[in-house]
Amino acid sequence: MSITKTLTLLLLGTLYLQACQLKPLDAAKVHEQAITIDTHCDTPMRFLRQSFDIGKTHEAPGSRVDLPRMKEGGLDAMFFAIFTSQRQRTDENYALAYQMAHQMLDSTERALTLNDDIASLALRADDVLAIEKEGKRAIYLGMENGFPLNKDIKRVEEFYNRGIRYVTLAHTKNNDICDSSTDKEGPEHNGLSNYGEEVLKEMNRLGILVDVSHISDKAFYDVLDKSTAPIFASHSSVRSLCNHPRNMDDDMIKALARKGGVIQICILGAYIQEEDTTSLNYVKKEELRLKYNNWTYASDEERKKAWGEWREINTKYPPVLPSIADAVNHIDYVVNLVGIDYVGIGSDFDGGGGLSDCVDVADFPKITEELIKRGYTQKDINKIWGGNFLRVFKAVEEAAEKTI
Ligand SMILES: [Zn+2]
Repeated sequence: MSITKTLTLLLLGTLYLQACQLKPLDAAKVHEQAITIDTHCDTPMRFLRQSFDIGKTHEAPGSRVDLPRMKEGGLDAMFFAIFTSQRQRTDENYALAYQMAHQMLDSTERALTLNDDIASLALRADDVLAIEKEGKRAIYLGMENGFPLNKDIKRVEEFYNRGIRYVTLAHTKNNDICDSSTDKEGPEHNGLSNYGEEVLKEMNRLGILVDVSHISDKAFYDVLDKSTAPIFASHSSVRSLCNHPRNMDDDMIKALARKGGVIQICILGAYIQEEDTTSLNYVKKEELRLKYNNWTYASDEERKKAWGEWREINTKYPPVLPSIADAVNHIDYVVNLVGIDYVGIGSDFDGGGGLSDCVDVADFPKITEELIKRGYTQKDINKIWGGNFLRVFKAVEEAAEKTI
């Protein structure tokens, strides 16, 4: 073969190979085409402050969610959590939690009315599709901690009627419904209580998603066993990668997937990467925890003081946060363990969530970029960003319709 012929063949070969190579996915397009849902943020607490306007752009890290930044970050839907922290179960505190939950719902409604040209309240799984077509943001409501239900089963329906579509059964301490994964006193009910079973039944009947984030492992298995619909974790990560009791271990993730549920990876630093216990940020916060008797406060004044000191520590000794790549490792892990159909994203923004390179909702396209880099397709990304969660949401709605 002549040299010219060999060179021509080589050239043709190279051109052929180049043509065969798949065109890299355009991250912006992929992100735009996906229905994107974040299943957890604690922004409603801010609405209690009259000065916070969700229709205006704010700055991270002080604020991580508002409607203009949701649009900028191509985020179609967000679940706003109506959060109350678990206090001692006194009559006074039950009344306070109930009142605060309604106050947050009132102020969220007000914020949405003021911004009805750019956002709408969403109640059904399908609503996000219609709202997205109008070019608006869909806002769903969840309740983080069942404390405001106050052992009164009628309140489940009362809050459903106000728009609540998931309830995170407990928070950092045990409540009447079930044990928490992080209560320093240890388990109180050995999982789900009898009242908790009633709550679960009522949630299944109405079509409220059961959120197992924060609850103890035993409570998780009780709920999984007794729920007539798939369940989900609105903001939890993988315990094998970050050993925190708030995260889910491999057996739990497998059991969740077997029943058609979904784990929404939480992008809060301490749930993505084990904390550096020698850092000043960690040491100072531990000192603060002891000072305030494991976050048990004598008064609201004391609570405010403790939060002020917490913020001061974060300013003086900023924590070193994990990155998007570290968070996507958790997504990869779930995909390798149980497949692509059982994982999503729940940021926990405005409740502690945030990564070094993902500080607010406007940064969400960067997560899609990282997913593409790791070989995920448009179809995969659609599932991660909302498809998997919507499947669970629809199954919960269908199971409720069957009970009527
Ligand atoms: Zn939480």
